[in-house]
Amino acid sequence: MRDQSRFSATLWRLGAPTWLLAAGVACAAGTPFAGHNPPPETVAVQLRDAAMAGHDIAYTWVSELTTRFGPRPAGSANEQAAAEWAAARLKDLGFDNVHIETFPITAWVRGTESAQLISPSVQPLAVAALGESPPTPAGGLEGDVVIFPTLEELKAAPAGSLSGKIAMVTMRMVRTQDGAGYGPVVAARAAGPHEAAQRGALAFLMRSAGTDTHRNAHTGTTRYVDGKVEVPAFALSNPDADQLERIAAIGRTARVHLSSSASYLQNAHSQNVVADIKGTRKPEEIVLLAAHLDSWDQGTGALDDGTGTAIITAAAKLIRDLPHRPQRTLRVVLFGSEEIAQPVKPFGDFGGHAYVTTHQGELASHVLAAESDFGADRIYELALPAAVIHADFAQAVLRVLTPIGVLAAARPPEDAGADVAPAVQAGVPAFALSQDGMRYFDIHHTPDDTLDKVDRAQLDQNVAAWAALAWLAADSSVDFRSHGAPAAPPPQG
Ligand code: ZN
Ligand code: ZN
Repeated sequence: MRDQSRFSATLWRLGAPTWLLAAGVACAAGTPFAGHNPPPETVAVQLRDAAMAGHDIAYTWVSELTTRFGPRPAGSANEQAAAEWAAARLKDLGFDNVHIETFPITAWVRGTESAQLISPSVQPLAVAALGESPPTPAGGLEGDVVIFPTLEELKAAPAGSLSGKIAMVTMRMVRTQDGAGYGPVVAARAAGPHEAAQRGALAFLMRSAGTDTHRNAHTGTTRYVDGKVEVPAFALSNPDADQLERIAAIGRTARVHLSSSASYLQNAHSQNVVADIKGTRKPEEIVLLAAHLDSWDQGTGALDDGTGTAIITAAAKLIRDLPHRPQRTLRVVLFGSEEIAQPVKPFGDFGGHAYVTTHQGELASHVLAAESDFGADRIYELALPAAVIHADFAQAVLRVLTPIGVLAAARPPEDAGADVAPAVQAGVPAFALSQDGMRYFDIHHTPDDTLDKVDRAQLDQNVAAWAALAWLAADSSVDFRSHGAPAAPPPQG
């Protein structure tokens, strides 16, 4: 099923649902389900198996997206062109109500950047400016590096103690399957520049929020405080961070030169792409599938988050090609400006927040939401809203998904994703299909985030899980909103 010719750029646009015939769900006379609809769980199994057999749409989508548009930073011409392309493709694929919703942002533009160790020896360092951080003065800046193993130790430094220095947090990210190691290092990335500036530092450096041992720095956004990031801020590759730590360990002081010509583009805009598969009996009820089209600028945003947009689009397209529609509306939203999403944004907006602003009136009828934004390695766990964890719905979903390696989480999702977070905060229930994150943070936010890192078999497993679950949720009347604590399961012997 992996004949290369099946992955041509044009074949999938024909939309021929040949898998339906193979799966026996076409509506032609003589098929097993002619004249009536098969049970939803039967259809979910067929969707799962069709995706697992190797469907063209997801890989072709991420291949075209990354090849045609490359990096897609928030507010860039590439991001806009990718959104226009995506909307046209979604129309070709037969989605309803396809449109683009534009919102204003202040874009951040990387410019050129460099770093060099000046003393005790001269050596180039691999750095990446953190998103939203300001440029250095023309010609760069230079200072002695003061190392803090954690953000807390930086916060404990007295006011004025870093005057004329470069503050560096060297906390190392822990590799875990669920990505739990990312949160602690992101806390340093978000707050570090402000804490460094408060103590008089010229600039902020951090060990990359990533698990690889290559000389690639991992970028990512930092946080505005009172409307600005006060000092230039950079991530350093893991081997270079090791080098600065060893220099300190032998009692020497590392002196570093940093240069960045980053800039801000006022009056830019980003956009969300919205596409529906309109429901039959309850079209006003919406199951929202989310991913983001924007990416960081160093790679081509294949795993973050080209594959997420591919997975949800392919899953919805499989459902679109069924002989009958689900009862509820299935909505795909490809968000813009996710990478610079912040709780408080002084300039402009970000996709997740823009969506809830635009769709305020229908949030109460969003019955369920979820986001695919963790690469495309295999899904191993399903977390459902508390209201249904012990319900028949969960049992049905697991009967379909456990054969492809997905087990139930004991708790509802703790973090549904940045794009859907504003909707979840507004009361929309969320599910999460957790992906294996063991290699994700080797690649995430680096120049290595490119198409060759996508594993097609694992991508197909993602599409299978999303298609089956989205179908079961959309073709049901289940109320996913929590009404008090869920019933406890019977004790296990
Ligand atoms: Zn992402
Ligand atoms: Zn990202």
